[in-house]
Amino acid sequence: MIPAASFSGKRISLFGLGGSGIATAHALIAGGAEVLAWDDNPDSVAKAAAAGITTGDLRAADWPRFAAFVLSPGVPLTHPKPHWTVELARGAGVEVIGDIELFCRERNSHAPAAPFIAITGTNGKSTTTALTAHILKSAGRDTQMGGNIGRAVMTLDPPEPTRHYVVECSSYQIDLAPSINPTAGILLNLTPDHLDRHGTMAHYASIKERLVAGSDTAIVGVDDSWCAQIADRLERAGRQVIRISKRLPLTDGYFADGTNLMEAVHGRYSRVAFLEGIGSLRGQHNAQNALAAVAACLRIGLDLGEIQAGLESFPGLAHRMEQVGRKDHVLFVNDSKATNADAAAPALSSFNRVYWIAGGLPKEGGIEPLRGFFPRIAKAYLIGEAAPAFSATLGEAVPYEISGTLAAAVEHAANDAAKDTGGEAVVLLSPACASFDQFKNFEVRGEAFRQAATAIDGVKSIGGPR
Ligand code: ADP
Repeated sequence: MIPAASFSGKRISLFGLGGSGIATAHALIAGGAEVLAWDDNPDSVAKAAAAGITTGDLRAADWPRFAAFVLSPGVPLTHPKPHWTVELARGAGVEVIGDIELFCRERNSHAPAAPFIAITGTNGKSTTTALTAHILKSAGRDTQMGGNIGRAVMTLDPPEPTRHYVVECSSYQIDLAPSINPTAGILLNLTPDHLDRHGTMAHYASIKERLVAGSDTAIVGVDDSWCAQIADRLERAGRQVIRISKRLPLTDGYFADGTNLMEAVHGRYSRVAFLEGIGSLRGQHNAQNALAAVAACLRIGLDLGEIQAGLESFPGLAHRMEQVGRKDHVLFVNDSKATNADAAAPALSSFNRVYWIAGGLPKEGGIEPLRGFFPRIAKAYLIGEAAPAFSATLGEAVPYEISGTLAAAVEHAANDAAKDTGGEAVVLLSPACASFDQFKNFEVRGEAFRQAATAIDGVKSIGGPR
């Protein structure tokens, strides 16, 4: 745990007592702060109280006496409207921050030289975070990974000059981290997502921009116009910017030429790494993730041999284009993490005969952006709340059924794929939707798919639950 000593002797209010909220409260208490914590859910309050955290209804609190208000990133800061605690904090002039901000303050005061790689973007954050941490670890560096992936950031080991931090940051977390200042900040890509919580695309992009604007070195994927403009703006402001592209030969920066990862210096190219034969990093989207990880690791001082070895031994993450089972010519692929259309595109583009399971809680824009992949879809199996809207988009272009549940979709898709005589047929869960209408989260949805697929007679499982 990292004791949050920056608020020693001060009073802090905290709202949101999920796992990271409780960890943050403990970190503040260990650092010597007096914490008053609350949550709208009485069970969470009871759990925190049982864990030794002082709880109390923040409506009745003396707000001007708080030195800061720590908010869980799951709670609305701005949209659709600020949570009532945020209104109270603002009314009393109390700063509103999150756990990543506490981490940054601890690093600044105890070990400002500790290498800190922060990663954001609409898609690819977790893969890039896990890959970067894996490369650093396999090169023998003392590495801590957390944030929006795995462990809450304040549960990591305390900053030391040679300790490396690889931290995934959601837009909500960045919004609560005004002084975020990584050694290398990565912004992978930007497409519309979470607009219910950020209002407009411009606002969402401006929050993501803050992570790279605060970085010693900004590593920016320039394959979309939002990010390209951010890179230009940072450069004009005199910041150190490294551009990456999964498709364009850049004049300066890192780009992918097929499976080769190239460095460009004033228009001269050299190969720095390659992805050929690395199953966990298939696809152009993973070239973007790998380029970002490579650029960050080079910035931290790893050599090319160490980086290539780390790329080659990367095991990949569950629920991201994860092959879970096979029966004869039918392959079952779990891409449950694809919670919007852009995230589903890589999987749809990777296979030719797709029996596509899609749907759940719909996101802005639906599946219209996936129209270009419709010819690859042999049939679609629609589940959850999005089914009517998705069926309207598929229209005459793609055969579909409204399966309703994931279990029915897997069964029907497997039966149809078994009859396909056109070569490899892929039963793909890549839902382009959030899971919350039918599942607790995307992991539970992915596990349900794995179980349903591997329970089918004759399906041999590939790998296993991680
Ligand atoms: P995040 O943590 O940002 O949600 P993940 O690494 O967990 O991203 O990947 C989520 C989904 O997005 C996966 O289904 C994957 O196919 C897709 N994806 C991964 N990397 C990228 C990328 N760089 N660009 C677009 N889509 C991506």
